Amino acid sequence: MRRPLVAGNWKMYGNSASVKALLTSLKDLVWQPQVDIAVFPPTLFLIEAVQALKETPILTGAQNCAIEPDEMALTGEVSASQLVDVGCQFVLVGHSERRLLLGDTEAILIKKFQAAQSKGLKPILCLGETKEQREKNQTFTIIRDQLNSIIDSLGIDVFTNAVIAYEPVWAIGTGLTATPEQAQEVHCFIRALIAEKKEAIAQNIQILYGGSVKENNADALFTMPDIDGGLIGGASLNADEFGAIYRIA
Ligand code: 13P
Repeated sequence: MRRPLVAGNWKMYGNSASVKALLTSLKDLVWQPQVDIAVFPPTLFLIEAVQALKETPILTGAQNCAIEPDEMALTGEVSASQLVDVGCQFVLVGHSERRLLLGDTEAILIKKFQAAQSKGLKPILCLGETKEQREKNQTFTIIRDQLNSIIDSLGIDVFTNAVIAYEPVWAIGTGLTATPEQAQEVHCFIRALIAEKKEAIAQNIQILYGGSVKENNADALFTMPDIDGGLIGGASLNADEFGAIYRIA
């Protein structure tokens, strides 16, 4: 049986005061032993988050890592080994904001995924189609290409230690959630693609849904058979709402 995971991607939101307040509130969440939980603060606040949450079951991840895993001259970047050193367990790879706004190509994402795993960070690989692609009936082709880009370069076995997040771009930050049926259809497709290569990996991998998940729609999404929790953006900035979603998972 797969454990659900509820992950909060804070994106580039927050400042010293709001992060301190959010971390303080998160410490009070009532632990749900059957559910995994993680937060992804901006890089600047990772150390503070790890420290604040160390007595809680809340794990910490980074939103990005460098293409090279170790120290080198790479101005402005943060390596997977540095992230591990400060206590991170996860890293997001291929979020649509990085693919579409920040130049992360498939070649770059392969390197980041590999760099993360080489240091023991668990990548959460984000996949998703744009509104235009969905309207042109390209959803399944896009998802397959994004997934195959990693499988073809690194092999299927890398998914024994990774998470996948399906985040339709048209649902991110728009309030337009995919219906549970729309999300389930894509999650089932992703699991089937993995099963074609290795059934056991397909059965064990957590596949999260992301895109306007809120307290009022989480239950319908999370009860779908192939949805193993959520990657939450906006709603993760509020400890009460994030906590409610965590309890629902
Ligand atoms: P929202 O929940 O704000 O739509 O963001 C989803 C997301 O991009 C999480 O990574």
